Amino acid sequence: MSIDFVQSPLTEIYGSNCFSNAVMREKLPKSVYKEILAVQAGEKELTLEAAEVVASAMREWAVNKGATHYTHWFHPLTGLTAEKHDSFISPMGDGSVILEFSGKELIKGEPDASSFPSGGLRATFEARGYTAWDVTSPAFLKQDKTGVTLCIPTAFISYYGQALDKKTPLLRAMEALNKQALRVLRAIGNRSSKRVFTTVGPEQEYFLIDKAFYDKRPDLILTGRTVFGSMPAKGQEMEDHYFGAIKERVADFMRELNYELWKVGVAAKTQHNEVAPNQFEIAPIFTNTTAAVDANQIVMETIRSVARRHGLEGLLHDKPFAGVNGSGKHNNWSMATDDGINLFDPGDDPASNARFLLFAAAIVEAVDRYALLIRSSVATSGNDHRLGANEAPPAIVSIFFGGPLTEIFENIAEGKDNAKTKGGAKIELGVTSLPKLPKDVSDRNRTSPFAFTGNKFEFRMVGSSQSIATPNTYLNTAVAQVLSEFADKLEKAPKKNEAIQELIKESYAKHKRVVFNGNGYSDEWVHEAERRNLPNVKNAVDALSVLVTNEILDLFDRHKVFTKEESESRYHIYLEKYAKQINIEAGVTIDMARRAIFPAAAGYAAKLAGEAGALAAIGAKSAPEEIRAKKIADLAGELFDETAKLENVLGEAQKTEDIPAQAKVYFQKVRPAMDAVRTAADQLEKLVAKSAWPYPGYEDMLFVL
Ligand code: ADP
Ligand code: MG
Repeated sequence: MSIDFVQSPLTEIYGSNCFSNAVMREKLPKSVYKEILAVQAGEKELTLEAAEVVASAMREWAVNKGATHYTHWFHPLTGLTAEKHDSFISPMGDGSVILEFSGKELIKGEPDASSFPSGGLRATFEARGYTAWDVTSPAFLKQDKTGVTLCIPTAFISYYGQALDKKTPLLRAMEALNKQALRVLRAIGNRSSKRVFTTVGPEQEYFLIDKAFYDKRPDLILTGRTVFGSMPAKGQEMEDHYFGAIKERVADFMRELNYELWKVGVAAKTQHNEVAPNQFEIAPIFTNTTAAVDANQIVMETIRSVARRHGLEGLLHDKPFAGVNGSGKHNNWSMATDDGINLFDPGDDPASNARFLLFAAAIVEAVDRYALLIRSSVATSGNDHRLGANEAPPAIVSIFFGGPLTEIFENIAEGKDNAKTKGGAKIELGVTSLPKLPKDVSDRNRTSPFAFTGNKFEFRMVGSSQSIATPNTYLNTAVAQVLSEFADKLEKAPKKNEAIQELIKESYAKHKRVVFNGNGYSDEWVHEAERRNLPNVKNAVDALSVLVTNEILDLFDRHKVFTKEESESRYHIYLEKYAKQINIEAGVTIDMARRAIFPAAAGYAAKLAGEAGALAAIGAKSAPEEIRAKKIADLAGELFDETAKLENVLGEAQKTEDIPAQAKVYFQKVRPAMDAVRTAADQLEKLVAKSAWPYPGYEDMLFVL
């Protein structure tokens, strides 16, 4: 596809398929548009009358752009997005149709929910679930070969109001955070802000490989990652891919990817080569978190669909290839007010400095107290291959602040009333300004799971395949809790400046163990973290167990993010998903080993043995063939045995009924058994002739584009 930005200027293309506020301002009567703004700000609920007007404008806009269908677009707990299309037609009874889309259809849908995971919340006989329009994220048009469809971002809840998706709890957590942050702001004298929300800009990593290779790899097709494959002579050690010149084929792809994203109003901004060969990144400009979550789902879908148009496959798995970096998603996160304050911008007057330090202290406390919860928000089978595996941040949750800011906090915590920083400024909050914090200084550390980067925090543990809804839901809830306690204290305090100073001092002194500015990838940090008593949970199954501890059940319940029942159901869904994923991976491993790799290896050994015999018969040197044949036959035997063992433990896992116990068997027994099969196969790959090997190798998938 040729995209001509001279013919169609970018400013015209941008958002042309997005029913944004700009479009609503133009298409809706003033009063209705004002009502929508108020609903978006959480000040009132949408009335059916307004919904009727919006629906009719939306339909007209969409139909003019070729839409025939609409869908309530939602995020079930699969982590993907779901849609069920309905056409706009309404037959008149005389063979003709008119196009209709009512306010009711806009604000509420009723998909048959029975086949989505609910963790026992909704029995299949009570299949009813509702989708409800999320006004904080704009509707958009999905345009592809199948036509044009109006997509309405929605939350998905059961008949009884329980959350069945990832959006509902996020909206609830945003509300909890808004409430508590406003209390703190009011307590420290802010009268102007009416709403606090979090902003997110997720950086998305992914791999591209030639579709022809992908189609020959059942493991990639079925699981998203390679369960076999030996590293070629070259990996990522030359560091020549990162920020390298983008190949033409990839540049073509990126051009179209940007074009598609811009059309639907996703502000794709930055793109570059990543560390691993054939690994790339795309980052949009940050927005309100609910819209950012939706936009990120769109980014992921669009990477895959555009890649296919270019004969490529976009791999979003957290660890598609062993031996080179996996893919992550940096969740850049901040808190903003409706009147334009970034609460993590240090500012340059005493009042904004005090506010900044107070909110930053709340983050330190939240990350320390809820480290296990934050860890669990990124607990997936794919991410188990990254966290702590010497590439991504470790499984230990810590915060990076950089030297200057840490020093300021240390001084406050040590109670040096008029403590001086190196810059010479006195630390007396609410009275003196902080020394100017150099932005780039705080951005140096790339190994921290939770890094302060000048005016936002960058949460780097998220896996590339994950929806960012859950990490942000947990994070916002944890912060809301700490802010609620801060507010309790500040609201009662007669002298605000002293109270702020005291609060930061107390909180930081208690939670500073989570602050770490050094190299998060080093072994020393693992030991140091142990000395500091910081948890280091290395696998998803253990990490998820925090969700059903009383502390966390109470936390979510208190902030109305999850009822206890909802938390428990999610715990089971996530474990089940983990088990299912390993189950499929193990099945594919057995299948590939048994039906392709073993026959190829055994056949090749026999062929070499035959050749050795023939060579010996004419008195030629036959030892190399013989030695190689024997080695391959031995390894093929090992592969055979390990495959049988894997099948055995897989049977045991499948028979285990209790969900947590079953996930444990998959983790403790099935995964190591898969690794053993892989070890034999990967050694074989290095010995069997390439022409006899049944699958494309890493040297093809990672280097050919
Ligand atoms: P980096 O140093 O990591 O490259 P950038 O400034 O390029 O940082 O930002 C990376 C991402 O962080 C982008 O998606 C950007 O929009 C986002 N970002 C910037 N400011 C904020 C903020 N206040 N809140 C949330 N995300 C932000
Ligand atoms: Mg970054």
